[in-house]
Amino acid sequence: MFIEPRVGNGKQATRRGWIEVICGSMFSGKTEELIRRLNRAKIAKQKVEIFKPALDKRYHDEDVVSHNANSIRSTPIDFAQDMLLLGGSCDVVGIDEAQFFDEGLADVCAKLANSGVRVIAAGLDMDYLGNPFGPMPALMSVSEYVTKVHAVCVQCGDIAHYSFRNAASEQQVLLGETDSYEARCRHCFVEGMKAKK
Ligand SMILES: [Zn+2]
Repeated sequence: MFIEPRVGNGKQATRRGWIEVICGSMFSGKTEELIRRLNRAKIAKQKVEIFKPALDKRYHDEDVVSHNANSIRSTPIDFAQDMLLLGGSCDVVGIDEAQFFDEGLADVCAKLANSGVRVIAAGLDMDYLGNPFGPMPALMSVSEYVTKVHAVCVQCGDIAHYSFRNAASEQQVLLGETDSYEARCRHCFVEGMKAKK
């Protein structure tokens, strides 16, 4: 389990930022892990702000909602850059569904961290084809800490890191359709992709 180098800012502590990424497939518990870390920061009386891309309207507009309904309030924004203005005065900035942000995300997170903000971003590292997802590879490169969480393959019970799509759509972004996906291990993902052809 990830343990923060520092949670609060004691009287002697200088304000220092860094970037954490929580990545993995669907159903791997990314958002739950994000919420766990943010709640710990809140206990340490840190000023916490959570952002998510405005296009993720899957559940309630203002909440980061994980699949187990453990939710936390968040602000939907259109561009990664909006975080500089809205999150600059925070101790901790949380980002959910980071993969849906624009390519400016890594740069924005670096700027926040450089100015002393702790940034925690959760997102899918691969799309349904198994390709790196949007701004995630760049963001992971510039992060201090990357945690890959895993799901369980619904086909065989092994560790899963792919989000396999049962639906036929070719769109990369298919929102609110968790029923159309299942977590699969490498073997079962490859078999499933072969069966689609
Ligand atoms: Zn499997």
